[in-house]
Amino acid sequence: MSHLIQATDLRQHITRIIAMTGSAPAEAAKLDYNLVMANLSGHDSHCVCMVPRYVDAVLEGGLSPNTGVKVLLDTGPLLNLDGQRGYGQITGVQAMQMGIERAKQHGVCTMALSRSHHLGRIGHFAEMAVAQGLVSVHFVNVLSRPVVAPFGGGDGRFGTNPCCIGVPMGDRPPFVLDFATSRVAQGKMRVAHNKGEQVSPGYLIDEHGHPTTNPGVVVVPQSNGLFGALMTFGDHKGFGMAMACELLGGALTGGGTWHREADNQRAVLNSMLTMLIDPVRLGTQAMFEQESLAFADWLRQSPDAPGSDGVKLAGEPERTARADREQNGIWIDDTTWAEIEASEKKLQQSPKT
Ligand code: NAD
Repeated sequence: MSHLIQATDLRQHITRIIAMTGSAPAEAAKLDYNLVMANLSGHDSHCVCMVPRYVDAVLEGGLSPNTGVKVLLDTGPLLNLDGQRGYGQITGVQAMQMGIERAKQHGVCTMALSRSHHLGRIGHFAEMAVAQGLVSVHFVNVLSRPVVAPFGGGDGRFGTNPCCIGVPMGDRPPFVLDFATSRVAQGKMRVAHNKGEQVSPGYLIDEHGHPTTNPGVVVVPQSNGLFGALMTFGDHKGFGMAMACELLGGALTGGGTWHREADNQRAVLNSMLTMLIDPVRLGTQAMFEQESLAFADWLRQSPDAPGSDGVKLAGEPERTARADREQNGIWIDDTTWAEIEASEKKLQQSPKT
């Protein structure tokens, strides 16, 4: 069973819950716009389903509502910002607004954002940059229970460390490549577990390091009290990208890497290294646009592989999902809905709120 809900109604419902965590009305509204946008984009793992976790993190003191970025360094093309455990959907947007302004001014900006609470869908930030004609590259690490196994390893040692590249494509929709370095996002395993579904082979190992198709191994503790782990995409290559996210997103930003046993804290901290480039200032804008479009056309001329619905470019599936869900509504599974309702009750009963 699932709930079908229109985006506007979902926003209103979630805004009310987020406001109960202490967020000012403007913060709650911005946060909900971002979360529901993830639902609309088809990413049911980085959307309103995160609200119960955010509520727990606020109640534990690991997430600070109404907290923006603190500027640690601003030389123009270099920005170093502390997210101060504020809502990532807020600090991430603030940081990107600053980075975009600096890149327009100087041609480039390298922006380090450390210690934000969960940044959600990283593609949101790339979409902000490409809308201004900028190229943007993002490396992100995750400080939370380590759910992904290193290639050749038998337990979780790091997070789903996402990587994202946004490229404007002239007057066409942009290329937005936005992916977890795990074979699949952890949240998608929670959604599958909530629906009682099995997942494809090659995604997961169990608490003993053996391959499994049961998504529950990364959602609930197993018989020995331990969790299983997600595998990286592309074997050693995805593992290399995940480590690059930890080194650039975690170590270089100053946000920190994960190198300790798991704890039960519900906060999810993200640090993100962002590089922004203005092709106009680089002097290649005309060639860049011409070559990008010519390459995209060349790809689209490839005949459909048997049984496939043809070549798509990154960013396209999200835009298709948005058009569909804006019109027809968003399905939310019963377990996720019940968890959201329970978190609202928890806030009503908490002496902290
Ligand atoms: P995914 O596997 O659904 O998609 C990854 C990318 O592939 C997207 O850019 C998409 O446009 C593209 N794509 C999908 N199908 C395609 C096709 N047929 N042809 C060409 N391109 C195609 O994404 P995911 O790895 O499950 O990640 C989901 C979301 O989770 C992302 O938005 C990511 O930023 C987010 N995430 C966030 C965190 C965090 O800590 N904040 C951690 C992990 C993931």
